[in-house]
Amino acid sequence: MIVRGKGSTVWDAEGTELLDATGGGLWNSHVGHGRRELAEIMAKQVEELEYFTTFHEFGNDKTIRLAARLAEHAPAGLNKVFFTSGGSESVDTAIKAARLFHVRSGEPDRTWIISRSASYHGCTYGSGTLTGFEPMQIGVGPNLPHVEKLSPPYLYRAGELYGDQDPTDFLIAELEQTIARLGPGNVAAMIGEPVMAGGGVLTPPPDYWPRVREVLSSHGILLIADEVVTAFGRTGVWFDSVQREMEPDLVTTAKGITSGYFALGAVLMSDEIAEAITADMGFFHGHTYSGHPVGAAVALANLDIIEGEGLAANALSIGDWFRAGLAPLADLPSVGDVRVEGAMAAIELVADRGSRAPMDIPAVFGLADEIRKHHGVIVRPYGNNIILSPPLVMTQVETEVTTKSIVEVLSRTGS
Ligand code: PMP
Repeated sequence: MIVRGKGSTVWDAEGTELLDATGGGLWNSHVGHGRRELAEIMAKQVEELEYFTTFHEFGNDKTIRLAARLAEHAPAGLNKVFFTSGGSESVDTAIKAARLFHVRSGEPDRTWIISRSASYHGCTYGSGTLTGFEPMQIGVGPNLPHVEKLSPPYLYRAGELYGDQDPTDFLIAELEQTIARLGPGNVAAMIGEPVMAGGGVLTPPPDYWPRVREVLSSHGILLIADEVVTAFGRTGVWFDSVQREMEPDLVTTAKGITSGYFALGAVLMSDEIAEAITADMGFFHGHTYSGHPVGAAVALANLDIIEGEGLAANALSIGDWFRAGLAPLADLPSVGDVRVEGAMAAIELVADRGSRAPMDIPAVFGLADEIRKHHGVIVRPYGNNIILSPPLVMTQVETEVTTKSIVEVLSRTGS
């Protein structure tokens, strides 16, 4: 029971102090907990205007300003923004926009969406079907039709997945074969996280996204960058898709846009897509809380803090401190791989280093519990990974406490 927070520290109901190496648990607390200035902004906005719809001809000043601010930093050409209440809604909005764009452009057969195994895109029927973890789809079907999954760029398991082929060559051939099988004129879009977060911080080879982009462009297929985790500094930049050379047509965001102080998401898209989907009878899509003025006010102040305090640069330092602090794990038999990308890290745990068989999930949870109980550090067990995604304000000393705790527990438990 977490009841209070300040910076990278939280306190439970018994008053126990815990270091939050997970950024609120779900990669979202960028500016850290307990920011008085954000509380004040929220209170002021509630007094001024707590809510009014942004449907039809209505809008509000904060939402318009936030859209302009996002467009300023967005990947080239993405000037239009649709607001949502979170990541899953952003992903659903993006896939609807992609399909509708093709319909309004005279290509109604483009309905297929390509996604990847090991991805995480949300839990609604749309985003949940795109998500690459089967438990999300089991027992709740039928799921969204016309979704196809490709292999992920997972270099630690390159041998198992790609044989002796170059990973990017394998993945591009798979993409081309999939498009050929579905029919190039039947595919609407491909969606991908620039770096796969939930899948275990999987950074693709540098030539992966440029080559994917080239194939998609040659077939008129849109690319959606799911930046719900990566945007707003977590990997050292505003939008990670820019440094991966994805050149997306749409970008989905949420989480760090408000650092968790308000449930807000945003979908960025090109003028061309925005114009197509709002033509004719318009885009029949919108949530009660789309464009919420309190969310937008908090987002603006949150982005000011991220910029003003240089938190994107600190994310890169956090990555360096993690790399150094986690280096001793290289000698432990249960650690298969350690992957760090900015202020995100995954420690992939295995039952056997030779076969790379994943460690049992209950054992991974047990280790995370041990790290919390013995050292007061919260890490996140996710599949067979221990995930770190701290607030971007985390200090060097706090990262050292985190890495030492992990190294101590994994060494002591014979892992
Ligand atoms: N996309 C990605 C890449 C995510 O990691 C998540 C959530 N972790 C989502 C979408 C869904 O966001 P939400 O939980 O806010 O619906």
